Amino acid sequence: MVTDRYARQILLPQIQRSGQDRLGMATVLLVGVGALGCTVADLLVRAGVGTIVLIDRDIVEKTNLHRQSLFDESDAEQHLPKSIAAARRLRKANPQVRITPQVIDVTADNIRHILSSVSPTVMVDGTDNVETRYLLNDLSIESGTPWVYGAATGVEGRVMTVIPNHTPCLRCIFPTPPAPGELPTCDTVGVLNSVSTLVASLQATEVIRLIVQEDFSKFRSELISLDGWNRRFRTIDLTNGRRSDCPACVNHKLDFLNHSAANAVTLCGRNTVQIRLPAPSVTASDFFMQVVRRLEPVVTELDESDYRVWAKATPDIELSIFADGRVLVHGTSDPSQARSIVARLLG
Ligand SMILES: [Zn+2]
Repeated sequence: MVTDRYARQILLPQIQRSGQDRLGMATVLLVGVGALGCTVADLLVRAGVGTIVLIDRDIVEKTNLHRQSLFDESDAEQHLPKSIAAARRLRKANPQVRITPQVIDVTADNIRHILSSVSPTVMVDGTDNVETRYLLNDLSIESGTPWVYGAATGVEGRVMTVIPNHTPCLRCIFPTPPAPGELPTCDTVGVLNSVSTLVASLQATEVIRLIVQEDFSKFRSELISLDGWNRRFRTIDLTNGRRSDCPACVNHKLDFLNHSAANAVTLCGRNTVQIRLPAPSVTASDFFMQVVRRLEPVVTELDESDYRVWAKATPDIELSIFADGRVLVHGTSDPSQARSIVARLLG
């Protein structure tokens, strides 16, 4: 019985029967089923959300298994798409939840359509990917849909909930995305599985709170910042955090939503994909130095010249990175795969 399944949750004064009913009517759009996405999905499905839409462009790899809790060895051996593997596992955990997996690369070109077909109560960033994060922020402002930001790298993490017109948006706090290679990613510096789980757990809590609380005006605007290894937790009050000149939530200049993905990814010849990342704000030599530092621990061969960095990422995939932020991915003609490789290695 439904009541038995959620008995321990309904006992909570924060949830009660009314909160459980609200959860059952809610739809969550989860973009990215990696370390954060796996835990967020697992908790929300067990908590009894009505519908969860799982979107991911990637397949399960063995290096995912140390932290991506919905996958196992056989998923990796079969190269299963993450959203498909996750949905299989989640349906066993709670068959009452409607689980819709989609194997797609979310871009500015398709995200509006995804949103209108799903009509989510809340959106969640499970990608830990800069590009998607700014896209979700724009979409949230345009549609008025709240979203929950999460990031985990190394032993540190951050969580923030964005409620359009009520809290600061992502660009109020981080106005521009970091240039490619500027920020470390899980694939260059690693991540502690307990820290990504901690971040995802806080994200899931934020989602449940958003769904259960009827009145957003009571929602405190905060950025949670943590260092799991050194046991440092900070909650930064963002009550006055809205920028009066925010390009996104004040001036409604939705740069990421209105930047066609066709400009970002271009097939430029057989078995090579060109990806155009934001132009670096540093000199070419500084940019190349950052790129080399990121790639050195994770690629098998690396060569730097005055005008490009070349790297052998896998036996089949080679990268050429240029000073204007362009990356050529050799060895594939699949834009989604190329985008995924560049996002993983260069952030
Ligand atoms: Zn803003």
